[in-house]
Amino acid sequence: MSSHQQAIAGIVDAIRTRQRFVLSSHARPDGDAIGAQLAMAYALDALGKDVVLINKDPVPGPLRAFPGAERIVVADRADETYDAAIIMECSTLDRTGVTGLDTSFVINIDHHQGNTGYGALNWFDESAAACAEMVYDLVVALGVPMTRTIATHIYVGILTDTGSFHYSAISARTFDICRALVEAGVEPPRVARAVFDSNTLGRLRLFGAVLSAIELEQNGHLALMRVDEAMVARAGGTYDDTEGLINLPLTVKEILAVIFFKQVEGDEYRVSMRSKGDIDIGAIAKEFGGGGHKNAAGCTVRGAIDALQKTFIDKIETAIDGRSVSHR
Ligand code: 5GP
Ligand code: MN
Repeated sequence: MSSHQQAIAGIVDAIRTRQRFVLSSHARPDGDAIGAQLAMAYALDALGKDVVLINKDPVPGPLRAFPGAERIVVADRADETYDAAIIMECSTLDRTGVTGLDTSFVINIDHHQGNTGYGALNWFDESAAACAEMVYDLVVALGVPMTRTIATHIYVGILTDTGSFHYSAISARTFDICRALVEAGVEPPRVARAVFDSNTLGRLRLFGAVLSAIELEQNGHLALMRVDEAMVARAGGTYDDTEGLINLPLTVKEILAVIFFKQVEGDEYRVSMRSKGDIDIGAIAKEFGGGGHKNAAGCTVRGAIDALQKTFIDKIETAIDGRSVSHR
């Protein structure tokens, strides 16, 4: 048995012998967090288990259209001890933003770089394009029928976490899984419309404002973006409306990396980064106490915006220079 098969077998056993489960994923959940979590919830339902879902932050607007989203309780504390807490998409338990989960038997399922192995059981696969891919394997191993609902949640996770099939962790397996999901009744165009085509005008205007103010560095290879409260107010949007915006600069051929500074409060900034190919911005995020993947990562920092920008430009410059020459 491979180490992955062993990990899956251990989790299958742990699930079979337990009854009451709490499921959680990371704060400010994305499509993979919600998709993996809800797919897992429906699989546990099918096994007759009791399932509670707790996340620190609400389900993003477009994903509320999917079945079961209303089951997710928004709280920063789990008051009860469950037979097991299944944590998905979190490299550390802190990433949940929910306290009290550690009083339950923790099962850690994740695909992020640098997962700390905080669970009583840990299954970590950095080669998975989405945590939802891992959940697919688990659902199959549990012998739960792949219903259209479970398949749809897994598909949402894969579609969003691969940046609509753009990122480097996509493998032949990704498509094998997607094939099985479509056979189980997933309708890709419907899912794509529900996930991506739900903009408000305020969101589009905010995109326009942020994109107009893009600055280029590194001979046009690096794009810098920023958003603050004033820009959000002027556009008539909200901070949440910037979700997904960071991916747009990468649609410019020459742009190889993007850094997006979002003012949280005063001198505190959320930094989101994206890159193409071998440029490892996950390592940079980690240096600043954040994390993520080679091509998509983030962290939170404090400082004057100009100094912060300079720091990150220097880091990315090194990463761009350091990538293997075969990239372009
Ligand atoms: P985003 O830029 O969309 O917020 O995050 C991109 C990726 O980096 C996601 O996979 C996310 O989980 C990860 N990430 C973002 N911010 C942090 C952070 O502060 N800590 C860690 N460990 N990962 C992060
Ligand atoms: Mn993910």
